[in-house]
Amino acid sequence: MKVKIRCPNGEIKTPKECLDAEKSLPTPILKKVLEGVLKESTPRDRVRFGATKITTNCLRQSFYQITEEQILDLDKLWILSRGHAFHDHFDFGKNEVFVEKKFKDFDVIGFIDGIDNNVLYELKTTSNIPEEPQDHHVLQAQAYYSMYPDKDKIDKIMLVYLSLSTIKTFEVPKRDIIPWIESRGHQLATALKTKTPPPKEKTWLCSYCPFLDICENHKVEKKESVKREVDKILYNKKEKKKVETWKDIFNNG
Ligand code: SF4
Repeated sequence: MKVKIRCPNGEIKTPKECLDAEKSLPTPILKKVLEGVLKESTPRDRVRFGATKITTNCLRQSFYQITEEQILDLDKLWILSRGHAFHDHFDFGKNEVFVEKKFKDFDVIGFIDGIDNNVLYELKTTSNIPEEPQDHHVLQAQAYYSMYPDKDKIDKIMLVYLSLSTIKTFEVPKRDIIPWIESRGHQLATALKTKTPPPKEKTWLCSYCPFLDICENHKVEKKESVKREVDKILYNKKEKKKVETWKDIFNNG
């Protein structure tokens, strides 16, 4: 993911430039807020996804997160940083447990927030605690459970929503979703390899998606590139009949 920061004065900077130039926040706070995006990613031989790229409500969004530049407001980064600070507040028997699962053409990794007394905890910091747990949060907790090598010792999965004023917990069914993770991961890995976004998975969350414009316009771009290819073939090979069939397919697609 290529990240740029929108500074309070509206200028777009790299995280490092923002750290050096931004004076509206005290440096220790700014450093903490930018911590996650200042880290350089290590080049790897194998494709590796964080579990949330798979358990998200939309794989197409994960594709854009990996391939497109994202411009983030400092406020958004503060919300993420605040969530981490909340999580560090609790002392589970085991905190931040790293899990990894290797598949044929990619790996999936994650960090379980806490395991205590054979209960696996996934924490979510939010300003509005939902009435029911959100599907992608349930799947994330189940993915961590599925990837945990000692899952036989886990009695319960608990999803905990935390706001500044209250806490709500939900028990999540224990479910091994490895086959589902493998199938979604394979779909995302193939999309990256072929540079073709996965199909849209539209929900009410689309209106909050930072890639809404790119996502909506992609079909137009695809049609344009297909048209260019078709024109090239028409010109080079005069395969008029075949080309008209293609045009029909894409104009109706
Ligand atoms: S706008 Fe909706 S369908 Fe498109 S990438 Fe975002 S979440 Fe997915």
